[in-house]
Amino acid sequence: MVNTSANHSSSRVHGLGLLSIFAGIVLGVGLGLFYGHSMWLASGGPEKKTDILRKTVQQKETFARQADADGHPQEAERLRLHIPEIQAEIDRTKALCDEAARADLTVARYVSKLVRFCGDLFLRMLFLIVIPLVVTSMICGITSLGDIRRMGHVGGWTLFYYLATGAAAVTLGIALVLIIRPGAGADDTFAYVSENVLAREEASLLDTLLEVVLGREGEEGKGMVPDNIFLAAGKTNVLALILFSLVFGGALSTLGEKGKPTIAFFHGANEAVMKIVRLIILLAPVGIFGLIATRIADSGGAGSFYTELVRLGWFVLTVTLGLAIHLVVLCVVLAVLARRSPLRYLYAMARALLTALSTDSSSATLPVTIECVEDAGVSKRAAGFVLPLGATINMDGTALYEATAAIFIAQSAGVPLSGAALVVVFLTATLAAIGAPGIPEAGLVTLLIVLTAVGLPAAGIGTILAIDWFLDRERTAVNVFGDAVGAAIIDRYLQEP
Ligand code: ASP
Repeated sequence: MVNTSANHSSSRVHGLGLLSIFAGIVLGVGLGLFYGHSMWLASGGPEKKTDILRKTVQQKETFARQADADGHPQEAERLRLHIPEIQAEIDRTKALCDEAARADLTVARYVSKLVRFCGDLFLRMLFLIVIPLVVTSMICGITSLGDIRRMGHVGGWTLFYYLATGAAAVTLGIALVLIIRPGAGADDTFAYVSENVLAREEASLLDTLLEVVLGREGEEGKGMVPDNIFLAAGKTNVLALILFSLVFGGALSTLGEKGKPTIAFFHGANEAVMKIVRLIILLAPVGIFGLIATRIADSGGAGSFYTELVRLGWFVLTVTLGLAIHLVVLCVVLAVLARRSPLRYLYAMARALLTALSTDSSSATLPVTIECVEDAGVSKRAAGFVLPLGATINMDGTALYEATAAIFIAQSAGVPLSGAALVVVFLTATLAAIGAPGIPEAGLVTLLIVLTAVGLPAAGIGTILAIDWFLDRERTAVNVFGDAVGAAIIDRYLQEP
């Protein structure tokens, strides 16, 4: 009786929380679409856009010279023909700069600052708690598994689940992009390759993979195996902390009586951290409102967003369709292997999925994911082990995106890909998604691994750059759901005697 009323009230609280997050999203989208243009003007949007357009012209000239030097005069001519259109856009944007200088944007400036503050504060809090959460959850998860052999089995099945669903997502992405062919006739007039992508262009596939382990030269505290674990924590290097906690937890659990006080300490610390997580989640509606409104405003409001969406409409459609189908695949896997109702589980995960959509970071969403998964009845030992690891290495949405984007870039550059090249795309997209950290637009940078492996130019990334922020949100939500499904499956496996 007491239990039933407790269940009722907790599901009412869940429903109310969800409703307020929805309200935050609706208000955020509304403000972004209808007032975003003024916010964009007030926050120096036209100046930033002019700057990027100028760099785009310089890049076109450089790429055209390269094409000439490589003996592709037609490509060079095609790139040069883009320049007048970009110049015209620069003139239009300059007119907007003048409009911004004349208009009274005091209110828009205040709104822009306050709304950005709400989003940034929420995001900061999530990142703030992520390190203590990862360390304590991982250690609690591992030490609750008990026997070291059981750990090996659970680890093996978890990795198998990550790889199998990742490979399924990549296959789906490849099939869809080959059928729909969104790259045929895609418009790359305004393609611009950002500096961080250009800086990575020189790195070979092997370099990139080795850097996942040791970090880039000169960058301290990075890579899976950093030289200083505290520095890694300072750099929010989640993967390094996960691996360290995994080994530390494993070692603790072999100590018997001697290890017990330390294990109890981490369990207590984890409870305290989860309490803080629940407090942070209370801020979610306001934070999500701020993040969404700011992102739409940063892209220039309704008009600019619509233009970006239409320009790459077929690509957006292909990725979205692929992600939606993969979501259904995950639901089937959940029903079959975890024997759970997919709809009920989706509903239980809704807060995490909406947080993923607004933060576009699996790592930032991790606190909410753990809270939702545990609320859905998945044990701490499964959630604590599968979710932190999944947030950084299990990225089905990213894997699907990398394969789709690489083939889209080949199609738009008119480069036919052989069967062998498709196999290389399959393998590297799976690897690139594992290597991508759970942070915004990480998949865009690791996409270089796929492009380099099949000999496609990094410049192709420029074509999809404008819309990546939008697709990143969709793929992050799928990444998070993939982790949550994995936790439910491993939980069921752990319950078996
Ligand atoms: N933002 C994604 C995530 O955090 C990674 C990516 O695909 O860029 O899961």
